[in-house]
Amino acid sequence: MKGTMLYGPRDIRFEERPDPAITLPTDAILRVAAACVCGSDLWSYRGLNPIKQPSPMGHEYCGIVEEVGGAVTVVKPGQFVIGSFFASDNTCAHCRAGYQTACVQRELVSTAQAPRLRVPLADGTLVATPELPSGHMIPSLLTLSDVMGTGWFAAVAANVRPGATVAVVGDGAVGLLGVLAARRMGAARIVAMSRHAPRQKLAREFGATDIVSERGDEAVARIKDLTNGVGADSVLECVGTGEAMRQAIGSTRPGGSIGCVGVPHGVELDGRELFMTFVHLHGGPAPVRRFLPELINLVWSGAIHPGKVFDLTLPLAQVADAYKAMDERRAIKVLLQP
Ligand SMILES: [Zn+2]
Repeated sequence: MKGTMLYGPRDIRFEERPDPAITLPTDAILRVAAACVCGSDLWSYRGLNPIKQPSPMGHEYCGIVEEVGGAVTVVKPGQFVIGSFFASDNTCAHCRAGYQTACVQRELVSTAQAPRLRVPLADGTLVATPELPSGHMIPSLLTLSDVMGTGWFAAVAANVRPGATVAVVGDGAVGLLGVLAARRMGAARIVAMSRHAPRQKLAREFGATDIVSERGDEAVARIKDLTNGVGADSVLECVGTGEAMRQAIGSTRPGGSIGCVGVPHGVELDGRELFMTFVHLHGGPAPVRRFLPELINLVWSGAIHPGKVFDLTLPLAQVADAYKAMDERRAIKVLLQP
């Protein structure tokens, strides 16, 4: 089989790889129905995460179970399943508290940009759809593996309540789906921060009521203008840079909450400044496994269509073009078809 490897900055290759096999009795092998490139893959692609050796890529996936190990009892061959980017046992104390990405047995899934995939801890990690989905539903189901679940967690962590005023920092797929999540949770006003017309349009489609195209201090000033000087009740930080975090903290009302889901790169917070803001900070790698059953139901019933974030579809063999399109911001998110 061929799979995706990153050799160095902007050097993605689709090359011969060993076929995945059951190595532990808790494993499953999936035939991937669709995979995609994540905004967080771009950190490595751009050389901002050091690459010491050629590394397999891909952590967002859905597909059909081909084979399971002897200890797998819930997941069955033939089922269509979705799993998180972190495999988890779903039984330890952290999993039971809803933080499956902090599972004591967690293991990063990192070979998903390929036609077949080994998923560890299959019973804890994978959730099956009610039946085999039709093709048009697959993009939306795929988002539940990471970006939709991450946007959802951002809104949960930011304590979005019915009637709330919400600001979303970041107009990548996660930020846009954070808008969708906040709408679904009943926010009255949702301010999307974006300076790109196609992303602003999608943000409005997902439920944004206002757009702020400024950045930094000017963006904070605009949020204050829009909220009578108070600030937003809930802020979703979906970028991970120092500027985005400062923007999020500055936009939040005293006592408000920030859900931070962007993987931090160069974020440094001053304890005293933070102390004086009265904000709640909650974040981390989103425990998307917690939300999978609920989000599968919402997609299955047609209540949400998060798959709209995919604005480009390419064959898996052209995965290098997919990275390039996202790196150059020509595409919001690229779906890869095996
Ligand atoms: Zn666990």
